[in-house]
Amino acid sequence: MKIKYWGTAAAEGVPGIFCNCEVCRLARAEKGRKLRTRSQLLINDDLLVDFGPDTYTNSVKYDFNMTNLKHIIITHPHEDHLYSEELEHRLSGFACEIGTPVLVLHGSADTLETIRRVTDRIPGFKGQDRVIYDIMKPYETRAIGRYYVTPLPAEHGTATPFVYLIEEGDKSFLLLNDTGRPSYEVYQYLVKRGILLDAISFDTTYGFENVLVKYGKADHHMGLLDNVAVKGFLDMNGVSDRHTVCIATHFSHQGIDADYHKMAEHSAKYGFITSYDGLEIEV
Ligand SMILES: [Zn+2]
Ligand SMILES: [Zn+2]
Ligand SMILES: [Zn+2]
Repeated sequence: MKIKYWGTAAAEGVPGIFCNCEVCRLARAEKGRKLRTRSQLLINDDLLVDFGPDTYTNSVKYDFNMTNLKHIIITHPHEDHLYSEELEHRLSGFACEIGTPVLVLHGSADTLETIRRVTDRIPGFKGQDRVIYDIMKPYETRAIGRYYVTPLPAEHGTATPFVYLIEEGDKSFLLLNDTGRPSYEVYQYLVKRGILLDAISFDTTYGFENVLVKYGKADHHMGLLDNVAVKGFLDMNGVSDRHTVCIATHFSHQGIDADYHKMAEHSAKYGFITSYDGLEIEV
């Protein structure tokens, strides 16, 4: 399984579109790994996770032909993960010789309803059937192309946010953003499944921080030290081990030591990889 990080930032990107803090100034000056678009990743070449405002730019940047894509799974309807208006450009009049006439969007009922509210206002959208909505329910595994995908409840504040367990053959990847520390029900599910994860992608919005200790709760996002605690708990329960590849991602420029090089140093101490736009992992 190949995991390619198209975008690795939280909502406003790095640099933040209207921000001039030190991290953002450094990102503008030095560019490279310090520049982060909004969070999104591609599994192999046929399963996209999230459809945020940088989808178009990233698809061009990474030379990916969106007309061949059949499936997108969406975590939740926050604007950094979902830009529904772009779907109008699948319609005839905008899209010619489209490779895959039907694109299936997978997500929770409220996420898909958010999309539908936008697309219902687009003239001719319903009639063309170029987008299908697949409502997923927590803990119900779906066969999507060559994958088995299980939505798990995220701790994130929207109506039904999901994180996803994605399995391909004997490979498994747990996508843990956007979310605070997972609930015990999610841990229990993973333990009962008897799964040993090959890779975990962690929400590290707060940078080098322990959100649970600092704020008394970590129910929307995490920091690296929350990630380490979650990994420790998964290790203890046999869901992950020292071979599990751990990636920290979804960074805010306002996180502690959010600058790429500082984060990379912190992450390395705990055996984590700090994501950057264009990072490719193979498990
Ligand atoms: Zn986000
Ligand atoms: Zn900033
Ligand atoms: Zn969010």
